[in-house]
Amino acid sequence: MDKIMMKTPLVEMDGDEMTRIIWKMIKEILLLPYIELKTDYYDLGLENRNATSDEVTIQAAEAVKKYGVAVKCATITPNAARMTEYDLKEMWKSPNGTIRAILDGTVFRAPILAFGITPYIPTWTKPITIARHAYGDIYKNVEMSASRGEKCELVCTAKDGTEERSVIYDFEDSAGIIQGIHNKDISIEGFAKSCFHYALDTKQDVWFATKDTISKKYDHRFKDIFAEIYEKDFKEKFEEAGIEYFYTLIDDAVARVIRSSGGYIWACKNYDGDVMSDMIATAYGSLAMMTSVLVSPDGKYEYEAAHGTVQRHYYRYLEGEKTSTNPVATIFAWTGALRKRGELDEIPELVRFSEFLEEAVLETISDGVMTGDLAAISVLENKRAVDTESFLQEIDDRLRKKI
Ligand code: NAP
Ligand code: MG
Repeated sequence: MDKIMMKTPLVEMDGDEMTRIIWKMIKEILLLPYIELKTDYYDLGLENRNATSDEVTIQAAEAVKKYGVAVKCATITPNAARMTEYDLKEMWKSPNGTIRAILDGTVFRAPILAFGITPYIPTWTKPITIARHAYGDIYKNVEMSASRGEKCELVCTAKDGTEERSVIYDFEDSAGIIQGIHNKDISIEGFAKSCFHYALDTKQDVWFATKDTISKKYDHRFKDIFAEIYEKDFKEKFEEAGIEYFYTLIDDAVARVIRSSGGYIWACKNYDGDVMSDMIATAYGSLAMMTSVLVSPDGKYEYEAAHGTVQRHYYRYLEGEKTSTNPVATIFAWTGALRKRGELDEIPELVRFSEFLEEAVLETISDGVMTGDLAAISVLENKRAVDTESFLQEIDDRLRKKI
């Protein structure tokens, strides 16, 4: 059997702990036997980030700009405990944050649906992909406490010194609290473009919602920018692709989401996305079955699992235990990236391989073979929990038959 050849390298970002172990297993068992893998490799493991003073993260992000498609392993975001555990020079920032800032991208999270794992909302037969605008609003707020008797105003000062003022509240009768938030047209535009690009890419409708009836300038600006960009750059392409852009109020959107069967992209303002992505992930069953794709406004893609490095399993692994850690989202990060690379470089065998591998994963689970987290929620009667390596071998048995 000839191995599949690649043209452009895929940017590969290695990571930490249990997911780093799984990363290697996936490559050895499911990829390297079939593909002459061509990657531009960056070791984003915490040790190497510390050794390179986090330069490696910046280099990796620059490589995504250059090559357009990346696959990333979960990485540790350092906190105080990690400072001592890894003897860090500095509390390095979250790699995902750094990469997102450089690519100016939007993160799309989608659940992987498998037979026997029933969502809490039984009508959700297709995935709901959540896109969270990751800039501004309360995440870059300024807050103050106001004492009784204080008057609080919003003041905008122009370059020439002229001021525009508006009273927020006159705290005559009680002390209170105030908050200043902002967003930028350029960031909202980038968010809208990423959403529309990804919708075309995955042939799904886009839903977007704000509270523009109450917030007539702030939220209304989001609505207007989305509408302008859609009309100007995407309307025709959407019509050709047979997909839609749909805008409504956030409370109406929530009601419709619950009644829907899924199969669309739900674009959310920052806070809505923070809250709703956790609801969606839980409702579909398992965090280990969530994929995540970072898409930049100019169409660069970085694929990863939504979960972290599964630290608790890693400590058990270090003690010699065979863990039953779920590799599905990490496998789908690879298949997402390889499929995209195959599409861009016109390598149909690579696209087909990605599909076969995804099918093999889902067949393994529907045959009742799965990791412990899935066995705990699967409704199948013949289910059997296996360790990660056995699970990957079972996937490979099914993959081999397809190829
Ligand atoms: P986590 O790694 O997502 O794991 C939390 C728990 O969820 C696990 O202990 C496990 O539960 C379950 N779980 C998650 N993924 C699983 C999988 N693939 N298979 C089976 N069970 C899975 O989150 P965390 O423990 O809060 O964070 C660990 C590290 O990951 C942190 O250093 C954090 O900074 C980092 N992190 C990275 C990313 C990223 O790179 N994108 C995202 C989030 C967190 P049980 O232990 O009950 O089995
Ligand atoms: Mg959240």
